[in-house]
Amino acid sequence: MSAATGELCAAFGCPMIAAIGVAGHWYCACHWREPVASFDAITAELHRQHALVDAANGIRRSRAGYVAIRDAENVLIEITHALGQQYSLRPDIEVADDADHACPEHEVEL
Ligand SMILES: [Zn+2]
Repeated sequence: MSAATGELCAAFGCPMIAAIGVAGHWYCACHWREPVASFDAITAELHRQHALVDAANGIRRSRAGYVAIRDAENVLIEITHALGQQYSLRPDIEVADDADHACPEHEVEL
């Protein structure tokens, strides 16, 4: 299922080398398990982290081996995974109204 193709990830604009095939498309390690709704945010963050992306792509192209590739890409997965998590909030979570929500700074007695 996993193979380095040398092609870029199928997520629009993604600078990462594709590594994982899903349903006929090849995605990078950062996009392949994330919801499509978060793809653009992940891509934008990868562009902000271009130095790390260049390093990870360089390691993958050099065929440095699984451990080196994993270590380089895990850093980017950690950074971008949080972007996908924001879509995982449950819709049934109760949100406190303003009367019940007080900022800790305003609870300090002077
Ligand atoms: Zn990607």
